[in-house]
Amino acid sequence: MKITQQAVDFILESAKGAYPREFVGLLRARGGIITEVLIIPGSKFEINRSSIFQNMVPIDPSIVGSVHSHPGPPIPSRADLNFFEKGKINIIAGYPYTFESLAAYNADGTPAKLEIVK
Ligand SMILES: [Zn+2]
Repeated sequence: MKITQQAVDFILESAKGAYPREFVGLLRARGGIITEVLIIPGSKFEINRSSIFQNMVPIDPSIVGSVHSHPGPPIPSRADLNFFEKGKINIIAGYPYTFESLAAYNADGTPAKLEIVK
């Protein structure tokens, strides 16, 4: 999936800012390109168990998936895999929070490719 440089920068900065806790947000796409990260009010940033309050998530077809960070490698946990089923694309930002340490997964947990566009 395509993602803007701006959205990537936002994810990496947010992940660094939350470290060692996890940052969590939702991905919004326009024209098939992820352009925006939404921080949902009431989200809990905690070590190893960030959550998004489902009742705070707006009904919005432009939301295509989720993003969260890990204080270690971007390998999905069992809870992550269950959560991924709700979105088309799910990004995990792994330490040390560079583009190379981002990993994207499809709803079924298989790896997806991320491509930066201007
Ligand atoms: Zn996780």
